[in-house]
Amino acid sequence: MSTNATLLIVGNMEVFVIHKNIKNLHLSLLPPTGSIRVSAPNGTAEDVIRSFVAAKSTWIKNKQQKYKDQSRQTEREYVSGETHYFLGKPYQLKVVGDADKNELSIKGKNSFLLTTKADIAVDQKEQIFHEWYRQELRLVLDKLVKKWQPKIEATPTHWRIQKMKTRWGSCNHESGRVLINLELIKKPHHCIEYVVVHEWLHLIEPKHDDKFVALLDKHLPKWRQAKEELNRFILTYEKW
Ligand SMILES: [Zn+2]
Repeated sequence: MSTNATLLIVGNMEVFVIHKNIKNLHLSLLPPTGSIRVSAPNGTAEDVIRSFVAAKSTWIKNKQQKYKDQSRQTEREYVSGETHYFLGKPYQLKVVGDADKNELSIKGKNSFLLTTKADIAVDQKEQIFHEWYRQELRLVLDKLVKKWQPKIEATPTHWRIQKMKTRWGSCNHESGRVLINLELIKKPHHCIEYVVVHEWLHLIEPKHDDKFVALLDKHLPKWRQAKEELNRFILTYEKW
């Protein structure tokens, strides 16, 4: 985003406003997520921009939904040649049937090898992947929790990995419970670290207020980059 862009919140929409030497207000949505940009003539009042965006909110939301649908990963079939992600890197899948046991492993630098007993169903293959991903994410998270819990000085009553559709993580401030999305194992390590720090900080500070941002800045100065990377993927991290 251009450096002279200012951020305006209209309803629940984040709008980047750029003032320029132009005659009329202009709205555009940028791929891949359909982020909103308004070019405005120099000196345009904020209220004018607000009403301009508000009047187009239905159109904006429809378009953004389309962007979302497009970026959603296609259904996996778990056949040879498919690409599967692990810690931010693509791996090509090789499937070998008629093996002694069902097993998933990494071969070399960029392949997954899935050996299966006889012809097993797609959802069973998916299950093998999920279990493998869960184990790996558990290892990564255990280390991150060990690293961050003493620094942040907050301990959840309970945390666990869960499949979630719309969030990378969540923290219930009152009960002190943290959930981490299984899908995160497909993302780069620094993105996983950001989600851990983010959710653990919510144990101290439930809202995304200045205090929360200050804590993030203190503990993880590069958090904005990780947040942006996560937003580029299938799910959008909490909007704020
Ligand atoms: Zn949050």
